[in-house]
Amino acid sequence: MPRTALRICPLCEATCGLTLTIEGTTVTGARGDRDDVFSRGFICPKGASFGALDADPDRLRTPLVRRDGVLREATWEEAYDAIAAAVPALVREHGAQAVGVVLGNPNVHTMAGALYPPLLLKALGTRNLFTASTLDQMPKHVSSGLLFGDPFAIPVPDLERTDFLLLLGANPVESNGSLCTAPDFPGLLKALRARGGKLVVVDPRRTRTARLADRHLAPRPGSDALLLAALAHTLLAEGLAVPGPLAEHTEGLGELGTALASFTPEAVAPACDLPATEIRALARELAAAPTAAVYGRIGSCTVEYGTLASWLVDVLNILTGNLDRPGGALFPLPAAGPRPRPAGPGKGFAMGRWHSRVSGHPEVKSELPTAALAEEIETPGEGRIRALIAIAANPVLSAPDGRRLDGALAGLDFMVSVDPYLNETSRHAHVVLPPPPPSQSAHHDFAFNGFAIRNQVRYTRPAVPLEADRLDECEIHARLVLAVSGMHGAAAPSAVDETAIQATLRKETADPHSPLHGEDPARLAGLLTGETGPERRLDLMLRLGPYGDRFGSEPHAEAAAEVRPGASGRGTDGAPEGGLGLERVLAHPHGIDLGPMRPRLPSVLRTRSGRIELLPDPIAAELPRLRAALAERPAALVLVGRRHLRSNNSWLHNVPALVGGSNRCTLQVHPHDADRLGLTDGGRARITADGGALDVPVEITDSVRSGVVSLPHGWGHDRAGSRLSVAAADPGVNVNQLLDGTRLDPLSGTAVLNGFPVELTPLP
Ligand code: SF4
Repeated sequence: MPRTALRICPLCEATCGLTLTIEGTTVTGARGDRDDVFSRGFICPKGASFGALDADPDRLRTPLVRRDGVLREATWEEAYDAIAAAVPALVREHGAQAVGVVLGNPNVHTMAGALYPPLLLKALGTRNLFTASTLDQMPKHVSSGLLFGDPFAIPVPDLERTDFLLLLGANPVESNGSLCTAPDFPGLLKALRARGGKLVVVDPRRTRTARLADRHLAPRPGSDALLLAALAHTLLAEGLAVPGPLAEHTEGLGELGTALASFTPEAVAPACDLPATEIRALARELAAAPTAAVYGRIGSCTVEYGTLASWLVDVLNILTGNLDRPGGALFPLPAAGPRPRPAGPGKGFAMGRWHSRVSGHPEVKSELPTAALAEEIETPGEGRIRALIAIAANPVLSAPDGRRLDGALAGLDFMVSVDPYLNETSRHAHVVLPPPPPSQSAHHDFAFNGFAIRNQVRYTRPAVPLEADRLDECEIHARLVLAVSGMHGAAAPSAVDETAIQATLRKETADPHSPLHGEDPARLAGLLTGETGPERRLDLMLRLGPYGDRFGSEPHAEAAAEVRPGASGRGTDGAPEGGLGLERVLAHPHGIDLGPMRPRLPSVLRTRSGRIELLPDPIAAELPRLRAALAERPAALVLVGRRHLRSNNSWLHNVPALVGGSNRCTLQVHPHDADRLGLTDGGRARITADGGALDVPVEITDSVRSGVVSLPHGWGHDRAGSRLSVAAADPGVNVNQLLDGTRLDPLSGTAVLNGFPVELTPLP
């Protein structure tokens, strides 16, 4: 008899609740969970393919260990023996920096990816950390760190209540949102318009999101920072900047006008290729809206002035008084996140505490640019990366110049991949540790609840029991921590979790401001519930979190420092919001709604001044570079990426239902450019840029503006030694091969993946 089980979807940031149909141990269907407190039944084609992804025959079933140059199936014991024999010895001989760690995007979609990499990095003691952030959203972390003192204090547009939404470089109808966790983002955009609100989309492509908009502006790619600066300038120059109550928490308002003086609409219009009148009109409309939110995503981040654009998004929210107010952009308060602290000065946000060895890139958020990984492996000298641990990461496809990285990885002394597939990157590993299919893992979203448009908490236990020859994903990580620490065989994996629990409780009980000050950590640890180490850690985080029960010391103390009049104090399940712990969450399998986002200033601020620092020094120092861009002659042709509803990154290209049809790796070219260059629809062209050339099929469409071509990311599955049979059948080309890794947004170290110059020639 088929049965059903609940599972939070791990395939994009929307975190929809799914109801899985299971026959035996096989997931045979997936539909939206209508009772899910957050997603209310929404599902997209990716979620509906959960069963196919779960049962993909190309998934590795056992670890692989390289012997005589060949990856062969091995036992878990053999795999960890190999790691324990290699990594500690290498660190002893060459030092901690000889080991690099790469964390890929799917890490943030698993519990293991949230709980264990910090412990792994601590055990290794390396500063050579590279993640998907420097190929994606790092500019936003930097701007939040500088403005608010906390790189994770990212304001989220209040989609359910706003009257005006300005979207830049985002296509949530296809992606379902990013740094804005909102199941059924398309439905929320339609609801905004249905209630009389306005949607403005800024994108060089007429995306499906742009087609929903009241107004679509298609500027030259990479010019978002200039456009945003001109909007801010107009607000300031026309007396439309009305921060309201934000003014008392903000410093630098006076200096901002001078800093942005040269960015008039007329000055930026040629670079943006938009009429100045249109820019001015947009600024006035934004100011006049009863509430409004400005939101910029990947197209405004992975560009040359990504951090400035990310900063200006929030500058506009502040100048219009829309930051931290309902209908504007607010800071979520996740249940397993830190408890709000009293307002006051914090430590601030530091960057450049160390630099990369070869090119001297400053660290940001303890990370180095992923674009610099290859040179850190290849370049001889002290501190060279000789061993790499890649977790859910495929930088050969996701980082610039994969061919160079391919060569560099092949020269490593040792490499571990935690990955369910033998893909373009893991094929270089000496040991591959495959996590089980997602149906066999528990799930709580540690990352995305911090960006959710509604506070809520959900947890799903494994929908299907772990197969006999598998290891739980959290145990894979815990055993990896032990192996690199020289503790393989000397301690049980649960010791890793218990050590983390003890460390947290020791810190908490030593904090004079904590209601648990002076308590016995061992007694509190004994009160934790949960069947596994990760469950006990989740219980701890929930109990210490903003809605937690504090082990009974402060029952129902829900976010007391931040609750404002009007907060209901009750979830939609009718239960009081406070007093959370794992048991209570388990009693609500469809989740507990914790209410809409609420104002959180000033307690969210961790700057040294304790205020919003509107014009921080690193930003002020970067503005002259943006000013210089006003005089630059734009390239005749630039490239942007694109997203498809049935895709996410490279790892979703191996499911037959998710590829094919319109999800193809084609180069989209505007008819005018095609005419000018002699290209034909369905023909082929050679595209050339800094890093190399690619031969691509041409798709002529006026959905992309002239002067811009578009090629999707995550393709290029044609490397020998990978085991991705569906993806290899239609491999496409890897767009990042056009880059040599030298184009970076300097403040964040993020690779410029959009808006870089290219040349096109027709092929016979
Ligand atoms: S929108 Fe995202 S989370 Fe929701 S079903 Fe689709 S892939 Fe899963």
